[in-house]
Amino acid sequence: MTPPITRDTCAALDAADALAPLCDQFDLPEGVIYLDGNSLGVLPRATAGRVQDVIRREWGQDLIQSWNKAGWIDYPQRVGDKIARLVGGQPGEVIAADSTSLNLYKVLSVALASVRASDPDGRRRVIVSERDNFPTDLYIAESLARQHGFTLRLVETDEIAAQLTGAAGDELAVLMLTHVNYRTGRQHAMAEVTAAAHAAGALVVWDLAHSAGAVPVDLNGCDADFAIGCGYKYLNGGPGSPAFLWVHPRHLARLGGDGKDALWQPLAGWMGHAAPFEFTPGYRPAAGVTGFLCGTPSAIALAALECGVDTVLAAEALGGMAAVRAKSLALTDLFSALVAQRCAGHGLTLQTPTEPALRGSQVSLYREEGAYAIVQALIARGVVGDYRAPGILRFGFTPLYLRFVDVWDAVEHLVQVLQTGEWREERFNQRAAVT
Ligand SMILES: *Cc1c(COP(=O)(O)O)cnc(C)c1O
Repeated sequence: MTPPITRDTCAALDAADALAPLCDQFDLPEGVIYLDGNSLGVLPRATAGRVQDVIRREWGQDLIQSWNKAGWIDYPQRVGDKIARLVGGQPGEVIAADSTSLNLYKVLSVALASVRASDPDGRRRVIVSERDNFPTDLYIAESLARQHGFTLRLVETDEIAAQLTGAAGDELAVLMLTHVNYRTGRQHAMAEVTAAAHAAGALVVWDLAHSAGAVPVDLNGCDADFAIGCGYKYLNGGPGSPAFLWVHPRHLARLGGDGKDALWQPLAGWMGHAAPFEFTPGYRPAAGVTGFLCGTPSAIALAALECGVDTVLAAEALGGMAAVRAKSLALTDLFSALVAQRCAGHGLTLQTPTEPALRGSQVSLYREEGAYAIVQALIARGVVGDYRAPGILRFGFTPLYLRFVDVWDAVEHLVQVLQTGEWREERFNQRAAVT
């Protein structure tokens, strides 16, 4: 039998952790163990000063000149190029703009238009996704399917493979998946799934909301078609931060022109025009990923996002996303092992797969009764996770600012919440608007 894990075991892991210095990039409140970086990343130390500089100097002093002088006009591309380094994109393939939902609208529209153009008989008219994909992705797909005469087919995870072969495969236009599931933390094998969808003749759209900055992603290596992702989760860009999108160069190449064949993204605003400051009445899409811009970018929000992305890029000197991933797996393994060791008999079951290749950077536990209230009782003790219906206690592990002793202390609080039954108190059972 392996000896039980102690707090000293965890302290030894911290002492040996090459990524430990990255913690200093963040301002976490005293006494908080933050296990919700998968929902809202923490504030980097650099952000307030940088945003202040954008406001006071670039906006306050230099005013409208900052569009050129401070490079506000290229900010979506500059931050996009930085994000590209985290997801296996090349410079010029990623843009930081709008929200994840809007970016999905843009890339999924292009994917559908692309299928239509290559399938004049209309045999491929099905979008496949998972029933437990994040709802906004499903709503956007549902709306586009209605507008363009496609059918959205929702299946269980273990039914996806069957959708990529035989008669179902022949109908498939687009496979739209989230790489790491927000609720269970389950991760898809991006390379294999993409190859199987391509073999069926379909395009693939990946949502990287719970992957970018958390797990290694190689979009070009996987030969994916389109991807989108979120700025305020593991990229630490701040609440409502701009999101990003990536488009494979083979699709970008078809987006530049105004010929009969050219594909347009649907939100054809002036910032995506080839020459916005010519103020001409006709739309001509800008070449490359710039064509996916719509309106004026938020310089203030992009400055905050850049600071967040920089905190992840700081790992490049220490082993990059491979090192981040190794620590993430060590943290999540430790958490699961401690829950098994110390919370047995309290009705918690692990929802996240144990096999490393099948999971992201979170651990989800299920409890039949009281899951919401247990999360609230933990938050009152300074251990911040969140609740997802039905019955899921969700804990995200961000290797950039979590220590192994934090994992020990978090489980210690969980043990106490369960043993005392304090979660039954009235105050922990009041539902707030945001869970
Ligand atoms: C967080 C998340 C979003 C968020 O979309 P917004 O447009 O920023 O509200 C979308 N999709 C997935 C899979 C997410 O996890």
